[in-house]
Amino acid sequence: MKQPNGGYISSVICLVALILLFSSCSKKDKELNGLSPTPNVKEMTNYLVSQGFDEQHIVFDKDRVVIESDIIMTLPDLEQRVATWKREQQSGVPQTEQRRNTYIVSNVYNTNIKFYIDPAVPASWRTAIQGAVNNWNAINGTRLGMSIVANQASANTRIFMGFESSNWIARAYLPGSDSKPGVTVEINSNFNNLEASKKLFALTHEFGHTIGFHHTNQTSGVLIPGTPSVDPNSVMNSFVLPWNGFTSGDILATQILYPQ
Ligand SMILES: [Zn+2]
Repeated sequence: MKQPNGGYISSVICLVALILLFSSCSKKDKELNGLSPTPNVKEMTNYLVSQGFDEQHIVFDKDRVVIESDIIMTLPDLEQRVATWKREQQSGVPQTEQRRNTYIVSNVYNTNIKFYIDPAVPASWRTAIQGAVNNWNAINGTRLGMSIVANQASANTRIFMGFESSNWIARAYLPGSDSKPGVTVEINSNFNNLEASKKLFALTHEFGHTIGFHHTNQTSGVLIPGTPSVDPNSVMNSFVLPWNGFTSGDILATQILYPQ
């Protein structure tokens, strides 16, 4: 079907008019509500670098940031952290242990962190999830506890499948500035054939992020006093190993962050 030329020109004029209309509308909206200024990526990056993250390992992705491949923060949460950080800088408050509080789970939640498993998660990963819960629950001398719940509404953290043809096995949110556990753990179905003991290591590792642990083999975050600065078999190293239990450093760090 063809249109005569006159119709074509008037359609073009209509289109131009429409574009002008839309662009003026959206401009007006921005002026009126002023709600969503462009996130200050530079400032957020400065904050993350000040926390020890390498700028090259920080990727802004829509409404969140992915750090060191598998640690996630939401932008609203990051904005909160930046605001607190700036206040602390201005008031000269020493940025020591208080800052770590924003990374860990409050006592309201940390005795029973509830994980919900999305129905699409395959059985082999479910086994690893149950194993990871058992691993953390087996650490003595800590108030930390975890469980799997059948009802998503009552859960703190949702575990679901994603897919990317890249080298992250799973990735997780850190606790937010609200001190709740990280909101999701995403498993990359690209690794569905990973051996069971590495699946178990990977999930135990991701649960460590949801309760506030950074990577042992990198320098971000605050070193937990008394724990080894080098711990090659730590569950919080960023490279997966066959599961062989927590190191004494992992156990000590958990007892320090979540004392009984
Ligand atoms: Zn990690």
